[in-house]
Amino acid sequence: QGRIEIEDFGLRYKTPTGFTEAVTGVSLTVEPGEFVSIIGPSGCGKSTMLNALAGFLKPTSGSVRVDGKPVDGPGADRGMIFQQYSLFPWKTVRQNVEFGLKMKGVEAAERQRQARTLLGLAGLSQFEDHYPEALSGGMKQRVGIVRALATGPRILLLDEPFGALDAQTRLIMQQILTNMWQRLKISVLFVTHDIDEAIFLSDRVYVMTARPGSIKAEIAVPLARP
Ligand code: ADP
Ligand code: ADP
Repeated sequence: QGRIEIEDFGLRYKTPTGFTEAVTGVSLTVEPGEFVSIIGPSGCGKSTMLNALAGFLKPTSGSVRVDGKPVDGPGADRGMIFQQYSLFPWKTVRQNVEFGLKMKGVEAAERQRQARTLLGLAGLSQFEDHYPEALSGGMKQRVGIVRALATGPRILLLDEPFGALDAQTRLIMQQILTNMWQRLKISVLFVTHDIDEAIFLSDRVYVMTARPGSIKAEIAVPLARP
């Protein structure tokens, strides 16, 4: 479980003067457990595609399927992480992580147990009672990853998650993400404009053309991971 199939995907936005064609004719797949990156110039539609996969946008043409089913709105099978941290400022780190589990109706003791396990994996145990404002950018993004994984999604979608971080923090975050991916055996679709990062982290990399984006090349990465 955790297969992504995008077939001949196109999406255009309605604008006051007409339409903006953001993406056209994109086909790609992510096999269960695979780590796949998408790179391409700014504005080629990478975010648009991730948002369609997350269920926030509907394709104008083609299809977006997860485990054989067309995506129809957001769901617990997909976790999403954005560049800007989207933590609840009025909740502690652990409460942020528990939020999705609470929505799913998981009872308090079990929520706490699951949140603590994941926070431990991400090296956040000593921060569980902190509020987001007390954390650095890298730490907030770490909490964001843990929160996205808390409900046990089979797929993690990341939209330039480390773009705003300094080089050293970025390296740590890459290691944490790789670690989570290997332990939890999830599928990852990772958007970045950094080709080094894409090649370093991924099994395969899709390269997109400038807007309207479509697939230009597919690179298999034979190198060993960190
Ligand atoms: P990327 O993530 O690759 O930078 P985006 O998916 O953000 O690209 O944007 C693709 C294209 O669609 C860009 O030309 C962008 O300006 C346009 N676009 C994005 N969101 C909207 C929107 N809500 N309304 C109109 N045009 C949009
Ligand atoms: P990114 O390149 O990381 O996708 P952008 O700065 O292009 O970020 O877009 C940020 C937000 O603005 C997105 O939610 C996108 O949908 C929206 N957006 C981008 N371009 C346009 C546009 N031309 N019209 C309206 N909204 C847009």
